Amino acid sequence: SPTKVPHIIFLSADTGGGHRASALSLNASLTAHHLSTPFTSEIVNIWPGGAWPYRDLVEAYVHLSRHPRQWKFLYHLSNTTPYLAWMNADTVLRNIKRIRKMSCWTEADIIVSVHPTMTNIPQIVSRKPFYTVITDLGSCHATWFSRRCSRMFVASDKLYNKARKRGWVRTEKLVRSGLPIRPVFGEEGERMGGRYSEQGVKYRKEKKEKLGLEGDSVLFMGGGEGVGMEEYVWGVKRQMEAEGVKSQIVVVCGRNKDLHERLSNSTPPPPKRNILKRILRRPKVECEPEKGGSVEIIPLEFIDNPQEYMVACDVLVTKAGPGTIAEAASLGIPLMLTSFLPGQESGNVDIVLEASFGNFSTSVPEVSELVTNLMRDGGLRAEMSRNGEKIGDAKAGERIAEVIWEDYWKGRTGRDFGKRRRWFREAWRRMR
Ligand code: UDP
Repeated sequence: SPTKVPHIIFLSADTGGGHRASALSLNASLTAHHLSTPFTSEIVNIWPGGAWPYRDLVEAYVHLSRHPRQWKFLYHLSNTTPYLAWMNADTVLRNIKRIRKMSCWTEADIIVSVHPTMTNIPQIVSRKPFYTVITDLGSCHATWFSRRCSRMFVASDKLYNKARKRGWVRTEKLVRSGLPIRPVFGEEGERMGGRYSEQGVKYRKEKKEKLGLEGDSVLFMGGGEGVGMEEYVWGVKRQMEAEGVKSQIVVVCGRNKDLHERLSNSTPPPPKRNILKRILRRPKVECEPEKGGSVEIIPLEFIDNPQEYMVACDVLVTKAGPGTIAEAASLGIPLMLTSFLPGQESGNVDIVLEASFGNFSTSVPEVSELVTNLMRDGGLRAEMSRNGEKIGDAKAGERIAEVIWEDYWKGRTGRDFGKRRRWFREAWRRMR
């Protein structure tokens, strides 16, 4: 068996917060699963050293996540076979030399990719055991399914069946594992012992005190980039004030510093640039901030303890990010989904609606009304919360860790380069 301390690299980029959260989750689970085995690990993004436009991946994501129409166009275009073939060829031809030079490939003993743009090239460049962990829930892009991996972990039955049906990856490589979320969510869930149980109510009260929250509160999250929340924050505040609901609104702005600043100073959101959109989608409730009022807004920057806020708050308003949904389900906080990234996150909305642990609407007045109703109706919240807990799963990371370590100690990689090479040699011989 191997004697060297294994070195694991996680291929990830900060396009949103979900990929990094999954890498951290896996790192923690790999540590917990093999406490007696020391290993080293690092998170690597291969693109900063790549060619244009690949090196601007993070900036492009920030822009596109704020412009869903452009996202939709690019997502669907790049999800077609001809485009994929061209993109694979282009990324390989223009980047492979630079990426091959990176030292991480020789240092690594195990490679785990949690990012769809880091599957194809790394699998060509490196021969080490390669695991792909898909960090999407209900739908995902075809770039995840690069076939040369040792194993591929998928989060839901939907994705598993999709991958099998299309024959993208050999069935024996597919593992249905769930979406890895950080172990702290599982630990918080265990301590709480059910959101509306006696223990849960007591635990949540303590948590509210610890975080300086008073009474019931609504939590807003917009992924790592803190997108698409502003209108809804003001709409919900107005509606709750109009109906006399006493509450606080906690807004996690993530890396969106402008939003944090605007909310801290109660400045109105910038006007929409598109005039047609401004006229057609004029919200029926006024979204201009109203200073004061009985509902306090608490803006936060990027936080490292979302699990604590999800325990303490009563309703979570968010975009349909897979990470946030999986975390919310594990802690049973009822959801109000207000948007999704077309294509990539649309399947996540179905998962929440099918499980009846959340609502979905894009309209500001409707969201404001639904959230206000939820804040008034403790019974409905408890019911939705129980539905969420039923599909919640904080053990996915552990399951993945178990498979990776077992493969490692058995010296198994599952990557059949020999067979492939033999096939090419045979084909070449016949051609001649
Ligand atoms: N997150 C966090 N702190 C923040 C904002 C977000 O830790 O201030 C985490 C959140 O808990 C989740 C991830 O970032 O794990 C967001 O992932 P998701 O898949 O929901 O959306 P993405 O940002 O990847 O589009």
